[in-house]
Amino acid sequence: MATLAEARVMTSPPFTRIPHPAPVPAAARAQALTDPGFGKVFSDHMVTIEWTAGQGWHAATLGPRGPLTLDPAAAVLHYAQEIFEGLKAYRRDDGSITLFRPQANAARFNASAQRLAMPEMPEELFIEAIRQIVLADRDWFPDVEGGSLYLRPFMFASEAFLGVRPAKEYKFLVIASPAGNYFKSGAPAVSIWVSEDYTRAAPGGTGAAKCGGNYAASLVPQAEAIALGHDQVVFLDAAERKWIEELGGMNLFFVFADGSLITPPLGGTILPGITRDSLLSLAADEGLAVREERYSLDQWREDSASGRLTETFACGTAAVVTAVGRVAGRDGEFTIGSGSPGQMTQHLRERLVAIQRGKAPDPHGWVMRLA
Ligand SMILES: *Cc1c(COP(=O)(O)O)cnc(C)c1O
Repeated sequence: MATLAEARVMTSPPFTRIPHPAPVPAAARAQALTDPGFGKVFSDHMVTIEWTAGQGWHAATLGPRGPLTLDPAAAVLHYAQEIFEGLKAYRRDDGSITLFRPQANAARFNASAQRLAMPEMPEELFIEAIRQIVLADRDWFPDVEGGSLYLRPFMFASEAFLGVRPAKEYKFLVIASPAGNYFKSGAPAVSIWVSEDYTRAAPGGTGAAKCGGNYAASLVPQAEAIALGHDQVVFLDAAERKWIEELGGMNLFFVFADGSLITPPLGGTILPGITRDSLLSLAADEGLAVREERYSLDQWREDSASGRLTETFACGTAAVVTAVGRVAGRDGEFTIGSGSPGQMTQHLRERLVAIQRGKAPDPHGWVMRLA
């Protein structure tokens, strides 16, 4: 593994560009883009970059998307040394293409890399990799409302070695997937199940890293939520099983009748969402009192009943902002507000989406134009 200092001085290698010899024909692509859903349609290309202890980052390639060849002893298949990111590219009415805060994704990717004992990647190489695939696959933006090109950068340990230590070889890839609205706009609020048997992240664990292993551990409680008729699972802290942390892949905000907001504080067990961070800024811009503060399940239930709490929403890149309407746990259920998306939820969602899509000024300089 490169040290932090080594990783920072490594300069970006040039990209080899191999255009797809037989891209998806235009008619089939148009068909796939009419209702892309989320994560099931993929573009023509992918980026691959290799890392070895001797050479650092090298062999940066934009090429045709296709299966990987992997040694069965590749460390990722045994010890799950893997991290990922998720961000969207947007195509505007004038044809320009933009990203939203990709530097924040690069920084979080490197924070995840540190936690998983993986090499860091220079920010400019991370963003250049994204630029390469977005421009190569610029015909893959869906024309549907709320459409975007979802980008999935990820890195895994490819070294063939069964000893337990940080691998000495890694692959970094970026794939692209046209996405419609994750939850259709005007969607009803979601219903969530409180996981009291399983936790997502423990103090000192990997909860703040965007690693596949966290998701693997969330699948059983998520399946339990679905089996019980809910949409998502919400996790409590592992130490006291008392404080609300987050959903399997989205952060939470609580909205009060006095117009103030609370979101659980970061601190190692919560994934530092870029949507969360952006909403904290937007709320502060509007003069709303917004606090990063622990909030318990008992208080949530009590405040919903008394009317002190009026709304709860989840947020993340894929779904942006989604209202929570109903919460169920072992001790029964409660409804939030009217059970439908509230005004603050809709307002903050619209504010953020307007900035992301270039329909409102961008006072924080969050938008990066690629073309
Ligand atoms: C990715 C992720 C989020 C949301 O992060 P964004 O940067 O807003 O997309 C929240 N929680 C978990 C567990 C995540 O993996």
